[in-house]
Amino acid sequence: MSARWRPGDVVALRYITRDAKPGMSWPFRVVEDRDDLLALFIPQGARYKAWEQPPGPAGRRLGDATWRHDVLRLMYPGRHHSIWLFWRRDEQGRRFTSYYVNMEEPFRRTAIGVDTNDHMLDIVVTPDLRWRWKDDDVLAERVRQGVYPEDFAAVVRAEGERVIANIEARRSPFSDGWEAWTPDPAWTVPELPEQWDRLPATVWEGADWAYPVAGRTR
Ligand SMILES: [Mg+2]
Repeated sequence: MSARWRPGDVVALRYITRDAKPGMSWPFRVVEDRDDLLALFIPQGARYKAWEQPPGPAGRRLGDATWRHDVLRLMYPGRHHSIWLFWRRDEQGRRFTSYYVNMEEPFRRTAIGVDTNDHMLDIVVTPDLRWRWKDDDVLAERVRQGVYPEDFAAVVRAEGERVIANIEARRSPFSDGWEAWTPDPAWTVPELPEQWDRLPATVWEGADWAYPVAGRTR
């Protein structure tokens, strides 16, 4: 798929499980679709699909959930991370609360949106650009358990280190003024495209290396 989306288009962002099925999935509005950036927006209140907790007797199942923040998701073709901006909206208005760096599979375009999957490690960044790792202990534990090979975890950490260098140097996108971005007021809350669970998943080409069969817990 190489077609571009237009601002305002509704797309499905799907996390693909280790057995190559659509997992957690969210509706987003397209903000910008360029060679070097795909920017997507999900508003507070959007309905998405999340794993039910705890899993029932039949195993894990996806159920409806409500998204709790306004989030702009900046995605970079071929890269192992996306950068999110969070806003809170309440009686006091709308305010930018944090950046979040999400390590993840390089995204693939589908007929209805994009496919990716989470790499566990994250970085939380305050509006004044103080940062901290999140779930680096969980990543290390997954390596010990054999869920992730050590060299894959090293690639994920190295990706995070590159973003940290950008944060500390106040480079793009942390200097781009995205914090002042606001959604088109004409946009309604997006709903997941109907085909989100029927359209076959795309599998990341690195999946066999990163997620060895022995660790396929999905
Ligand atoms: Mg994550």
